[in-house]
Amino acid sequence: MTDRYKRLLREVRECTDALQDGGIILNSAHEIVWFNSAVTTLLGFDSVRDRGQRVDNLIRHPDFVAYQEDPQGEVVIPSPRDSERYLAIQLVPYGRGQSLAIIRDVTRQVRLERTRRDFIANASHELRSPLTVISGYLDALAEGGELPESWDGPITETQRQVDRMTTILSDLIELTRLESSEDEAEYEFIDVRELLEPIYTEFSNRSKSPCLELQLDAELALLGNESEVHSIFLNLINNAVRFTSEDGHIQIQWRRDGAAAIFLVVDTGIGIQEEHIPRITERFYRVDKGRSRETGGTGLGLAIVRHAVQRHNGHLSIESQMGKGSTFGCHFPETRVVSSRSPQKAVVN
Ligand code: ADP
Repeated sequence: MTDRYKRLLREVRECTDALQDGGIILNSAHEIVWFNSAVTTLLGFDSVRDRGQRVDNLIRHPDFVAYQEDPQGEVVIPSPRDSERYLAIQLVPYGRGQSLAIIRDVTRQVRLERTRRDFIANASHELRSPLTVISGYLDALAEGGELPESWDGPITETQRQVDRMTTILSDLIELTRLESSEDEAEYEFIDVRELLEPIYTEFSNRSKSPCLELQLDAELALLGNESEVHSIFLNLINNAVRFTSEDGHIQIQWRRDGAAAIFLVVDTGIGIQEEHIPRITERFYRVDKGRSRETGGTGLGLAIVRHAVQRHNGHLSIESQMGKGSTFGCHFPETRVVSSRSPQKAVVN
């Protein structure tokens, strides 16, 4: 062992022991070179038996195996030792051709997150029924013609607010459902043209819309969950329309991207400042709260889009320039792409 290596090892040991985190050093073939005592507690590794083993022979969770191929950020998986505990694993390059896996026990955070989601889901469901009743009575009052005329304005405004609350609740219910589903989306055949054209037509026919253009590969279909894909299209096109002036232009594209497929919405709207871009897919994050509300936004649309795209094993890309416009892209992998001429391929997986 060289002095440099010993020093590095000591540093890792000190860091991980101080934090009570697990630390594993892996060689370029992903074999275990060394690990600290916390790894024995967290993952159940044996210091004699498991040295020299490939790490994915011991941590077999598919999310970890996929993460190992492309280690971006960190991955959270149940502990192979105790499925009630959750571990966050981060791989970082270390030494020459080696990597260091840092393992943290995140059980508490995962449970808190689950409680938060359950609470939101329950509260949203509970609020739905009283809101339906209020909305019904308001409609009856508006149509009844029994109230003095001076009530017309307040009733219309209350109806508007009730509609807004109903939209927020539906978005919250959809988002919590997407966030809590751990499985990938189904592989149902989706004729993208059939799904996209009516949305395009609806927005094009609106009197105050910017000019919309649709470029679509009619033969390119998708394998996924139709209602989630519909929600992706609707949210992105709706946003582009809301944040682009009437004399602006919106281009919607559905096309191949090598063996994969891409759905793009390119607008010439107000754009988004660079510092906001990493945060706009967080729930309730809006650059301009007033403008978002005025145009009927809930602040949940992009969070829904991001989760729905991820459930289709894809990712969302965002590029924008202030005052010039924005481009939102949904990238779907090859496994989700099929030709509408041979939909029988839809039985993949
Ligand atoms: P909202 O309901 O507020 O639109 P979203 O989650 O859909 O919520 O979007 C979050 C925020 O991202 C918006 O409030 C807006 O500030 C910004 N945004 C989204 N799409 C666009 C766009 N096409 N052009 C400019 N800003 C956008």
